[in-house]
Amino acid sequence: MEIVTTRSEFRRVLDAHRTAGRSVGLVPTMGALHEGHLSLVRHARARCDVTAMTIFVNPLQFAPTEDLSLYPRPIERDLELAAAAGVDVVFTPTEAEMYPRPMVTTVHVAELTASMEGAARPTHFDGVTTVVTKLFNLAGPCHAFFGEKDYQQVAVVSRMAADLEQPVVVVPCPIVREPDGLAMSSRNVYLDPAQRAAAVVLSRALADTAELIAEGELSALGAVTAMAAFISSEPLAELDYAALVDAETLEPLEFLESGMSVRLLVCARFGTTRLLDNMGVVVP
Ligand code: AMP
Repeated sequence: MEIVTTRSEFRRVLDAHRTAGRSVGLVPTMGALHEGHLSLVRHARARCDVTAMTIFVNPLQFAPTEDLSLYPRPIERDLELAAAAGVDVVFTPTEAEMYPRPMVTTVHVAELTASMEGAARPTHFDGVTTVVTKLFNLAGPCHAFFGEKDYQQVAVVSRMAADLEQPVVVVPCPIVREPDGLAMSSRNVYLDPAQRAAAVVLSRALADTAELIAEGELSALGAVTAMAAFISSEPLAELDYAALVDAETLEPLEFLESGMSVRLLVCARFGTTRLLDNMGVVVP
């Protein structure tokens, strides 16, 4: 596995692979790798000749009050896991390498970022779309693999790539879960044992609500209210939002119709740790 730390090397290495006729799969991460990240590597390897992972904790997507300085950075372990998973190239720039001068340019995706994570974290998505654009520009033409764990993020990045003609095919990949259903996340390490046990309420609320819809609930408000109540019944969970949206446009829905593809999304705090989860449902 080749480890590169500069923007110019990263660009050169991937250009060379393409020149030699090899397709490139890109897996952007903030490190603290777990099975969710490694599943993206497996999707990339199945689809592309060369897999490039980026590991960069992007300060632009954290608000001043958030966990940037605490965010786990086990780089040696990450490199071992990446190598074992078959990653060919890892790009691990420093902050100074990634942002060599103050950024006065921002990529902003409107509408899709107005609700949910965008409403709760107003500067977050501009930070994501700006760094992902930089990574896409450095990586060049490729397939880029993103987890549906961050469902709004993958929708925003897909729309950005399409709107801006970025030479990247964004590939959404399914959520990887712990055996009890908790979606894997680098932030799960912050949970104490009681919070960890309580956090399973998110996936249970989603599964319960999906079942409610499968049984004929056609009021989105009814479904969302049930989902929110389920989460609020867990004393250690502080609900941030529960939403039911169109799976493509992320627009909130009022009434469900047969054949509709919808997405249930939830976010709750367990102590100071914010956890996200979501699930797709096709209305029967
Ligand atoms: P992060 O390091 O948290 O920024 O995540 C990097 C990528 O891994 C993003 O595309 C995430 O959506 C994806 N990811 C994180 N957790 C999971 C999971 N449990 N299942 C699938 N993909 C995930």
